[in-house]
Amino acid sequence: MTNATADNNADKKSTPHRLPNFSAGPATIPTAVLQRAQEELLDWQGSGVSVMEMSHRSKDYIAVTEKAEAKLRSLMAIPDNYKVLFLQGGASLQFSAIPLNLLNGGRADYLTTGAWSGKAIKEAQRYAKLGLGEVNLVASGKDSNFTDVPEVSEWNTTLDAAYFHYCANETIHGLQIFEPPQVDVPLVADMSSSILSHPVDVSKFGMIYAGAQKNIGPAGLVIVIIREDLLGKASEWCPLLMNYEHQAEKESMSNTPATYSWYLAGLVFEWLEEQGGVEAIYKINQQKADLLYKTIDDSSFYNNPVAHKYRSIMNVPFTLADSNLDKVFLEESEKAGFLGLKGHRDVGGMRASIYNAVSLDWVQQLVDFMKDFEQKYA
Ligand SMILES: *Cc1c(COP(=O)(O)O)cnc(C)c1O
Repeated sequence: MTNATADNNADKKSTPHRLPNFSAGPATIPTAVLQRAQEELLDWQGSGVSVMEMSHRSKDYIAVTEKAEAKLRSLMAIPDNYKVLFLQGGASLQFSAIPLNLLNGGRADYLTTGAWSGKAIKEAQRYAKLGLGEVNLVASGKDSNFTDVPEVSEWNTTLDAAYFHYCANETIHGLQIFEPPQVDVPLVADMSSSILSHPVDVSKFGMIYAGAQKNIGPAGLVIVIIREDLLGKASEWCPLLMNYEHQAEKESMSNTPATYSWYLAGLVFEWLEEQGGVEAIYKINQQKADLLYKTIDDSSFYNNPVAHKYRSIMNVPFTLADSNLDKVFLEESEKAGFLGLKGHRDVGGMRASIYNAVSLDWVQQLVDFMKDFEQKYA
């Protein structure tokens, strides 16, 4: 049976042991980025200290953060009237921060297309209960087990909603909405597992947020990109550290930020730039996804239930015709050197997460393994 081979992008001299890692998150980080961090770990660019040991107010560290933000702005072509915040608490804390900052006595629309957008509306409903405003479920894909999105004609939208929230890529269900919903209210998108994987027109959004541990770097860090006119609407109950206007004024340094994670995010942005940016990585991401979905669709042994136009190019869940073989698949894949393929408990089966840092070569190795496995057990 096919065995995985180590990352061949890595520096040959030190040939680190790096296995193909398909984990949904925390996910694989480019080897070159980790090597650079390793080189700079003890002594950042002749400063005699680690980035981890620097004052967040120091000139050196401010230069690190400014560079990271500039690179992200350039990669995503973020317009000048948007603030970029580097905050803590992961994407999930934003499920609370969004209603606390934006509900403002109004009514917010939520589209539920899977586990993550489901969690977001639940959290918002807690604040609605406290009297901060109303929360409206626009539509839910639950009837299809979140394999499809209800037709726009069936949506119950609010004309003057405070905002419209959706999840651009449901990491657990493997369902991705490529075209932002066309609404005339501020669009708020959870892009935790799809940010920087394909071109996005930021100007269509009121706010984009993303936990870092999928396509950017270490867990805990969350990036918020928010249009300036949405600042200053926070409830008096909003914790100061979650207040976007305040954090924008303080340049994400109301308290000590996650300094090392911010630095690592900057290195990942630099790496992505070296790969040719978002357009270039999108081409590779499409090839990776096509390869996997073709392998699944060409066989009656593997199955992916998601409606084709919503199939995620980042998270590919699949099941085996005989679920008794799931355990065998996971054991043998792990033995062959493939990591992180166990599906989420809500969906079962397997899931291959193929974020930016997962190479086409790794995906090729995985489909070779899948074909061998099918031959052996079908
Ligand atoms: C991982 C994930 C989250 C949760 O991120 P945390 O950093 O664990 O809070 C939220 N939304 C999406 C789409 C995710 O993939």
